[in-house]
Amino acid sequence: MKLASFNDYRLGVVDGDAVYDITAALPDFLAHLPRQRMNWLIANWPTMRNKLANFRTSAPATALSSVRLLAPNPAPQHILAAPANYQKHIGELGSRTVTQGGRSAREQGLFLKAPGSLVGAGGALLLPKGSQRRFDHESELAVVISRLARNVPREKAMDFVFGYSCLIDATMRIEKGVAEEERSMRKSFETFTPMGPWIVTADEVAAPESLKNQLWVNGELKQSANTRDMIVGIAELIEMASSVMTLQPGDVIASGTPEGVGPVSPGDEVRIEIEQVGAMTLPVRECEAVSPRAY
Ligand code: MN
Repeated sequence: MKLASFNDYRLGVVDGDAVYDITAALPDFLAHLPRQRMNWLIANWPTMRNKLANFRTSAPATALSSVRLLAPNPAPQHILAAPANYQKHIGELGSRTVTQGGRSAREQGLFLKAPGSLVGAGGALLLPKGSQRRFDHESELAVVISRLARNVPREKAMDFVFGYSCLIDATMRIEKGVAEEERSMRKSFETFTPMGPWIVTADEVAAPESLKNQLWVNGELKQSANTRDMIVGIAELIEMASSVMTLQPGDVIASGTPEGVGPVSPGDEVRIEIEQVGAMTLPVRECEAVSPRAY
């Protein structure tokens, strides 16, 4: 099943060109917590799954093209992300990265991105107004967690996967010796985590570690790899993350980017496509708001 958030945090099941609005199948109290709807749905999936199968036949359908898609889970408690998880990406950034000495995600562990940096397929990637810094695209498979996960060994970890989504880990690069901000902040500007267009439930992705992962800028293919080339696989990423914190239903792990990372500028159009998961295209624009700090 493909689950999406749209318009004012409504939930939908996507089927072909249509989105079936399932918001009315959720408990009334969520009307007061609309951003929590997807977290609740995922946490209650074992019972909701069958209910939705029946509900869908009577749910109102809308053309997918007529809704504004939001990040499929607009409010995960955690977004974790893998640095340096494809061998050919390691080293390609030279002095523009804090990852030194060829260390992979296995040695470094994960970092955090702010959930407030999420944006959906109907949004735009907004760069700080007037900035001369370099901002990069990173094309990544996102893994969505199904249930509370603490100290989960990798052998059991795939039982904690709810589904998958496309994720762009947008990044402001450091300038060695000039500007070396914390990674978490360079990757957490508002809209720096485009995610979507929906979450595909895990039962529809038989081999998540054998998926084409591709990204285009203005129609030009920039990144083209396969998730089989990840150094740390999905199960080990969950082991790593859950050894530090309790993962919550709806949490997101961005599994790292392959080689081909490069800059985006205002006016560009960036497209991500992950096989069996989906595709989305977002415009890159300057923020309209003037920042009190220059970047
Ligand atoms: Mn990344």
